[in-house]
Amino acid sequence: MENIFWKAAYCILFLAWFGTRGYYGTKAVKNKAKEKVRPGFELFLVGLNFIGMTVLPLLAVFTPFLDSYAIPVPDPVRFIFLLIFALNIWLFVLAHRDLGKNWSAILEIKEGHNLVRAGIYKRIRHPMYAHFWIWVIAQGIILANGLVLVFGVIAWGLLYFLRVPREEEMLLKEFGDEYRNYMNETGRVIPRFW
Ligand code: SAH
Repeated sequence: MENIFWKAAYCILFLAWFGTRGYYGTKAVKNKAKEKVRPGFELFLVGLNFIGMTVLPLLAVFTPFLDSYAIPVPDPVRFIFLLIFALNIWLFVLAHRDLGKNWSAILEIKEGHNLVRAGIYKRIRHPMYAHFWIWVIAQGIILANGLVLVFGVIAWGLLYFLRVPREEEMLLKEFGDEYRNYMNETGRVIPRFW
């Protein structure tokens, strides 16, 4: 299939994704933080991921600069990942909806923060981070671009592995046994059903 098809499909889904973050994110940022954990470092990681999930894919779509990183991906594979990419936006919506005003781009405890254990959070502690794993893999395959794929996965992997232990430590400190019990009932990014 023509490259323009993949680029257009990617752009439409990117807009839906960006809109979801904008809609829920602006509501959540109005809720002030009472405690921030290493905000400077977290912002740096978020910046790296903005490059990986927004700047590079859009450069690949709208400019020829990244054309030399094109990789051969068969159309059926691109199509399967396009479907996964679209469904994955639903996961993003559910996570944002259920986390509500407790959401933040960096690690923080909000005023009146409550521990969410229901909805999409019932069996999985980090549904939004599961979403981002799927996102960084799928975007590189749909756009068939090696740089988008590798940079996206590395930037996300850095944030994921450097953040999650700190995030859980912070929530354990804030919620104590409630979070400890919650950890026993859930998986990190793979749902626990047993
Ligand atoms: N790691 C979660 C949330 C990402 S947003 C996910 O992947 O879905 C990051 C913020 O969410 C952190 O600052 C933390 O305070 C908050 N958070 C994480 N898990 C939470 C939960 N179960 N209930 C309430 N807030 C949570």
